[in-house]
Amino acid sequence: MQISCRVQAVKPSPTLSLQARAKALKAAGEPVMSLAAGEPDFPTPEHIRAAAVRAMEAGHTGYAPSAGVPPLREALRNLYERELGLSYGDDQVVVSCGAKQCLFNAFQTLLDPGSEAIIPAPYWVSYPDQVLLCGGVPVIIQPPADGFGLDHKALAEAITDRTRVIVLNSPCNPTGAVLSGSDLDAVARLARAHDLVVISDDIYDKLIFDQKKFESIVQRDPEMKDRTVLINGVSKTYAMTGWRLGYAVGPREIIAGMRKVQDQSTSNAVTFVQYAAIEALASPPEVVEKMVRVFDRRRRKIVELMSAIEGVSCALPGGTFYAFPSFAGFMNKAKDIPDTLNLSELLLDKERVAVIPGDAFGAPGYLRTSFATSMDVIEEGAARIRRFVEDYR
Ligand code: PMP
Ligand code: GLU
Repeated sequence: MQISCRVQAVKPSPTLSLQARAKALKAAGEPVMSLAAGEPDFPTPEHIRAAAVRAMEAGHTGYAPSAGVPPLREALRNLYERELGLSYGDDQVVVSCGAKQCLFNAFQTLLDPGSEAIIPAPYWVSYPDQVLLCGGVPVIIQPPADGFGLDHKALAEAITDRTRVIVLNSPCNPTGAVLSGSDLDAVARLARAHDLVVISDDIYDKLIFDQKKFESIVQRDPEMKDRTVLINGVSKTYAMTGWRLGYAVGPREIIAGMRKVQDQSTSNAVTFVQYAAIEALASPPEVVEKMVRVFDRRRRKIVELMSAIEGVSCALPGGTFYAFPSFAGFMNKAKDIPDTLNLSELLLDKERVAVIPGDAFGAPGYLRTSFATSMDVIEEGAARIRRFVEDYR
């Protein structure tokens, strides 16, 4: 029996497997403090759950058009018009089983074997592996030395005649960093000059702090609308990770390709979930604002606690529910801990605290600590990490 080279080239998602492991240990009665979560710790709001029940009762339980039910496609077109001032035709929208499937469909549509996709590090774990599943080549560029923004020179130098795609993710999982206007302008300039497509993963666009507002590359440079796929979903904004509902808008030919990939793989996203998504997208702003206020308090606390540990430094994330402290100072001294995979294993084994290793995001020396959990878990989790670092011999 022979497993394909494409599948041999990829690994299981480290975020999914670590989160599953932390949950299993907790279920088995272990006193695990999990700072690993990649999802809000709030339940899906009641009005959205009720809309799903109503849709089921109304008989929306059969196959739907693969690209999404018409009222949801219309709601999405209105959403982009209202929020970003962008108008898309009905054939420029596709609804999928999560933003993750939108990303997968987009890469499948744009990459041939040997095509290159530029991915700025630190990056979300699934981008490189999804590119590999197309036979494509992930080209990782490093952040500037002074932070988590975009290194414009590194980006320009990474472009070759095989480059097809640049991936953007702002606010970023795992760093929480928000790209600046000048970062977006630099990407737009290069994409237009080299005829590249931008895949913009906007899944954390509503989880931004300090009253800042998300800005899209297509708003800054309207010509980018012809070469940008905007990807989003209801998972993070409305605490709906398990419902599996994402969406994309973009140029007609690309969306047509993404629809074909979906026709021939999963078909439509769950039909009654699509009706619940219409309700979610129509939620009053307080629904998200309330969640952001809670995340904001936790964000400040986790950064304060991490920064107080010797050998650890932690920037304040501008968005998401992740803080991304550097343990480089500690690891320089702890010579027998070779990488953050090993460090996070030790933290789980010895202190029963779950984090995600920075190495999984192309960022050695860092740990991703999620604050999508209660203040008590944040405080106890940070205290255990501190004890581990201070007691380390
Ligand atoms: N992009 C990023 C950056 C993410 O963190 C996630 C989280 N799962 C996704 C995409 C996928 O989200 P979903 O498939 O749940 O919509
Ligand atoms: N995106 C979340 C995370 O990074 C969920 C897990 C996943 O889909 O990989 O933790």
